[in-house]
Amino acid sequence: MKSIKKCLEAAHTIYIACHIVPDGDAIGSMLGLGLALRKLGKTCSMACADPLPGKFDFLAGVQEVVSHPPVAEQVIVTVDVSDIERLGSLYDAAVFRSRPVINIDHHITNTHFGMLNLVHFLPSTAEVVYALLRRLHAPLDKDIATALLVGLVTDTRCYRTDNVTARQLRTTIALMKAGASLADITELVFNREPVSTICLWGQALASVRRRGRIMWTEINHAMLRKCKASSNEGDGLVSFLASAQDMDAAIVFREKDDGSIEVSMRAGPDLDLSRVALKLGGGGHPRAAGCTLAGPMSTARERVLSEVEKALNEQARLGSTGYSIQDESQA
Ligand code: AMP
Ligand code: MN
Ligand code: MN
Repeated sequence: MKSIKKCLEAAHTIYIACHIVPDGDAIGSMLGLGLALRKLGKTCSMACADPLPGKFDFLAGVQEVVSHPPVAEQVIVTVDVSDIERLGSLYDAAVFRSRPVINIDHHITNTHFGMLNLVHFLPSTAEVVYALLRRLHAPLDKDIATALLVGLVTDTRCYRTDNVTARQLRTTIALMKAGASLADITELVFNREPVSTICLWGQALASVRRRGRIMWTEINHAMLRKCKASSNEGDGLVSFLASAQDMDAAIVFREKDDGSIEVSMRAGPDLDLSRVALKLGGGGHPRAAGCTLAGPMSTARERVLSEVEKALNEQARLGSTGYSIQDESQA
């Protein structure tokens, strides 16, 4: 933390990047850090390779986010990025070698690719940013606090994940005291799904399948067309599937525009999906992980299902929970 503080204090221009297919934590951490560093007199660019979902339009600074790699900035900061590939087209090897890279994150699968790494296994990267801002004596304002609280609230699914402790509530209080409205955030982030997303959930839920104690479904091009939805919609679906009783894992396979398959996975308390995701070239947390595989859907699906089954078998062999795999059937 000390050397990161020094590095940021010495820099005049800073480039802050978040991961592809950005979520609330990636966006909130990036904007919160960028706006706060500006208050400390820095010039900050904020970048994401993919477009930001419209539901985050209410955050200050969203309109300024660029999608190009660093140019002349002296320092690069990545937030919520577990490995460098997650930067997508923002990553330029020569540029990233030529100046300090500070990696701020909370994933257990983080590859420590930075020259300086601030990786804490807190529920959200936004909290790691918050801790850093306190060390920098950066003053919070409503916009900064709102961005950070969006990160905390989205990655904990409104304080529902099992890693939430009194610490997250204390941080929430501090951010609310600085001007963030928890009521506005939950309203704007969780209660304003586009109709196309609801349609997509309907399509995907109608095709839910089970394999043993794994519940899975897919979002394919035909469903996206039918619902006039974009391929980054429907991100809460996998958590809903994971709420099914007596299931150990939930998976949503999503067909992207380029034909690749994005895989979102969630697990019960006894299964470490981050290892499965790593094996498949992805990453994440023990109970929420993901990866991107080449299509077609059927190949990607079989590959993932068999790896998750293997992990579950291993878990059963180690004696945590006994279960038997039944024939594949519609749930
Ligand atoms: P998601 O299912 O998209 O909400 O992602 C769950 C977790 O897995 C998040 O922490 C992501 O950062 C991580 N994750 C998702 N997709 C990938 C991927 N392709 N590569 C690495 N990590 C991923
Ligand atoms: Mn994220
Ligand atoms: Mn995160």
